[in-house]
Amino acid sequence: MIDSQQVESGLPGIVVTGASGRMGQMLIRLLLESDQARLVGALERPGHDWVGRDIGEAMGGAAVGVTVSDDAVTEIARAQAVIDFTSPAATVAFAELTAQARAVHVIGTTGLEESDLAHLKAAARHAPIIRAGNMSLGVNLLLGLTRKVAAALGEDWDIEVVEAHHRHKVDAPSGTALMLGEAAAEGRGARLADLRVPAREGITGVRETGSIGFSAIRGGDVVGEHDVIFAGAGERIVLRHLATDRALFARGAIRAALWGQDKGPGEYDMADVLGLG
Ligand code: NAP
Repeated sequence: MIDSQQVESGLPGIVVTGASGRMGQMLIRLLLESDQARLVGALERPGHDWVGRDIGEAMGGAAVGVTVSDDAVTEIARAQAVIDFTSPAATVAFAELTAQARAVHVIGTTGLEESDLAHLKAAARHAPIIRAGNMSLGVNLLLGLTRKVAAALGEDWDIEVVEAHHRHKVDAPSGTALMLGEAAAEGRGARLADLRVPAREGITGVRETGSIGFSAIRGGDVVGEHDVIFAGAGERIVLRHLATDRALFARGAIRAALWGQDKGPGEYDMADVLGLG
C-alpha cells in the first residue's frame, strides 16, 4: 500500500510503464516496499484490461491506491522518473513525453533499432536517459572483463557469444549479448558491425578469422544466461553470467532512477550508475 509517509517524505515519484509485464510487476512490487522512491503511476497500453483497475488488485493482491492508466501524457507529467521495460515503439513514444516532463527516463527495453536510438538521442537533449540492455552489476563487470580478455588475446582466439532466455522473449540476440559482442570488438579495436556473424545454418563455410558469432537458446523460464567463449588451439576461456531472479534488473533500474535525479540532460548507461567508468 502507498503509505502517507512515502508521499510526505518527498521521495522521487516514479511511473512504471508496461505495468502488467514481467518487469513492470516486479518494479511495482519493489517500489511499493521502497523507502527511497514511491510509485506514482502505472501505465498500460490503451485497451489493456488492467486499465482503470487498482494496480495492487490487478496483480492479485490488496489495493495500493494507484490506478492503472493509459494516459501517458498525464501520468508522466507528474513523474520525477519513468522506468520503462516495454517495446521499442512504446519506449520511443515515452521518451518524448519524459523529455517534455524533464524527468529521468530509465530504459530497459531491448531490440531498439538505429532509428529508435536517434529519437532517444534527441530526447536526451532535454532530460537524462539511462539505458542499459542489462541492469545487473555482474553483467556490467562482465563487459569490462570481456573487453580486457579480447584485447589480451590475438585474433587466433575465436569469440562466440551464447545466450539463453525464457520462451516469451521476442528478440534475438539479447541486448546483453550484443553489448558483450560490442565490448569484445572494442577490445580488438574494431566495431561489432564489421565482425558480427548472426546465427549460423546450412553450409556456412569455415569460420572467418576475427569474427564474433552469436547463438540464442529460448526455453522455459530462463531469466538470462550469457557466455562469452574465447576458443583457442587446445584451450578455451568461458566468461559466464547467470541471472536467477529478475528482481536483480528491477533493483538496478530503481537505482538508476535515483542516481539520475541530480543529473543533467544526456545519455547514460549502467556503467555510469555503478561508477564503473
Ligand atoms: P513483457 O512481460 O512482454 O512486458 C512488456 C510490457 O510492456 C507488457 O505489459 C506490454 O503490454 C507493455 N507494453 C507494450 N507496448 C506498450 C505501450 N505502448 N504502452 C504501455 N505498455 C506497453 O516483457 P518483459 O519480460 O517485462 O521485458 C520487457 C522488455 O525489457 C524487453 O525488451 C526485454 O528484453 C527487456 N528486459 C531488459 C532487461 C534489462 O536489464 N535491461 C531485463 C529484463 C528484460 P502488452 O502485454 O499489452 O503488449
